[in-house]
Amino acid sequence: MLDANKIEFFEKVETPFYFYDMDLLRRTVWTVSQLSAKYGIEAHYAVKANVERRILEYISSMGLGADCVSGNEVRFASVCGFAPEKIVFAGVGKSDREIADALKLGIYSFNCESLQEIYVIDAMAERLGKRARISVRINPDIDAHTHVYITTGTYENKFGISAHEFDELISLVGRCRNIDFTGLHFHIGSQITDVENVFSLECERVNAIVSYFESRGLKVDDVNLGGGLGVDYEDPDGNPVADFDKWFGIVAEKIDRRPGRRIHLEPGRSIVAQCASLISRVLFVKVGETKNFLVLDAGMNDLMRPALYGAYHKIENLSARLRPNLPQSQIYDVVGPVCESSDVWGAGRLLPLSVRGDLMAVRSAGAYGQVMASRYNLRDFAPAVYSDDMHGARLRTEYFER
Ligand SMILES: *Cc1c(COP(=O)(O)O)cnc(C)c1O
Repeated sequence: MLDANKIEFFEKVETPFYFYDMDLLRRTVWTVSQLSAKYGIEAHYAVKANVERRILEYISSMGLGADCVSGNEVRFASVCGFAPEKIVFAGVGKSDREIADALKLGIYSFNCESLQEIYVIDAMAERLGKRARISVRINPDIDAHTHVYITTGTYENKFGISAHEFDELISLVGRCRNIDFTGLHFHIGSQITDVENVFSLECERVNAIVSYFESRGLKVDDVNLGGGLGVDYEDPDGNPVADFDKWFGIVAEKIDRRPGRRIHLEPGRSIVAQCASLISRVLFVKVGETKNFLVLDAGMNDLMRPALYGAYHKIENLSARLRPNLPQSQIYDVVGPVCESSDVWGAGRLLPLSVRGDLMAVRSAGAYGQVMASRYNLRDFAPAVYSDDMHGARLRTEYFER
């Protein structure tokens, strides 16, 4: 909740900035670590969703592992306290240097996405005198019923290997002398809201694929189901913590388990999305021919999701809350300052009467927000501001001196 205390604090900070509610982050991560223990499922935070150092350090301190998709993410996760044996490394295009660095660090596993990648890792491990643990990402051909750009598990997508390569995979793993095959990896998409149906179907497919490999002599000790749990972008205050219990519960109930098998999940968005808002101010109220515009000082370079995927984010006028009883009675197109027609926060939004200088919040901005920021139009990066610094001596002066 962005309450009156926080709004009073925001008044003192130069906009735009990302505001992180660390109490909500702690509540969310605590929920995940409790469920991990309850169900015996290992959680790896998908680092690409948010790489702010304080956030990574907190998540690592709570015992979660890290799921990385680039060499720099692997290195930074390690710097932020994730032990190498809790780091997994996925991605369709790992460079030779990224593979070599991860081998030297001794990560838990490479999640390989093609047969050729397995050859290359085997050869590099031999050259470096290392052994590589690998899991193989399988494309289970499941439609996650989410946006096409964040669907990753159908045969239309570039990720993972498909059924026609399974037998070749088995013989390849038999021939490679510097790799230890540990299991299978899946990740079918993101912002999945039909949790019951989609994840149940995923579990069924995974069980069938795992038993196919085991019946042909390949031991599948690690079963990694990836991430994808959706969050409530419409009502972030009503549902601040995603339904991890449902997700973990379905997986625990449906996945075939035998002694020695380890189950892994990789939540990204669901851990960090709700803990941040992008705070900005209304620069101008523009009365157009057919509509009225609110021009904010935050733009698509700060948070790309609306321009990139047409994603919905709730927008609130925080200053209007402090004016008595203003109804949500105006319709605005809320836009950013960047010179692109796609720089729109929301078209036709119902908001209270808004004026120049009002503080605005774009909610649920913690995942795939700050990590995708650019300096397009040579704009400054919006910095991170943490709720833990709101009071007293820990207030960092650089927030005020940008
Ligand atoms: C992006 C990604 C995730 C995290 O997905 P969310 O939808 O953010 O939970 C997990 N695993 C892999 C391999 C990914 O690429």
